[in-house]
Amino acid sequence: MNQAKVIEKLTNSYPRLKIKPGETYYYSPGDITVYFSPDDSSKEGVWALLHETGHAILEHEKYFTDIELLQMEVEAWDQAQQLIKVLELKGDIDEDHIQDCLDSYRDWIHKRSLCPDCNLSGIQTTSDTYTCVFCHRTWKVSADRFCRPYRKKL
Ligand SMILES: [Zn+2]
Ligand SMILES: [Zn+2]
Repeated sequence: MNQAKVIEKLTNSYPRLKIKPGETYYYSPGDITVYFSPDDSSKEGVWALLHETGHAILEHEKYFTDIELLQMEVEAWDQAQQLIKVLELKGDIDEDHIQDCLDSYRDWIHKRSLCPDCNLSGIQTTSDTYTCVFCHRTWKVSADRFCRPYRKKL
């Protein structure tokens, strides 16, 4: 799967979709644009492009809790796998790769959820606040951007 070919097929199948070169792979709901790293010949790059396009097709915009964010990640990967069939691309997205990506979100969410005092998992009460059920401490978490930069495994 060659990046230029995939972009051509995506543009033909989804004429309203905007795809532009950027620093990394991400979907920007503000300008409804999928950004990609140019000159990336890796298959992981194509998978990332399809994943971000998945967010765009599903019109993912806002999330209120980290669990909703994780759910959107799962849906975007499902959509990416469907795109492989729709665009008649060769090869599948490696299931291990998908789980690695989801795990990086799960790890990130888990760390955010830990109470600074008890180190136990709290519950999210607003998009940027967690509360500890044991000591009742509340803490703020960053309202991260929609899709975090893709973490490449070494
Ligand atoms: Zn994503
Ligand atoms: Zn606590």
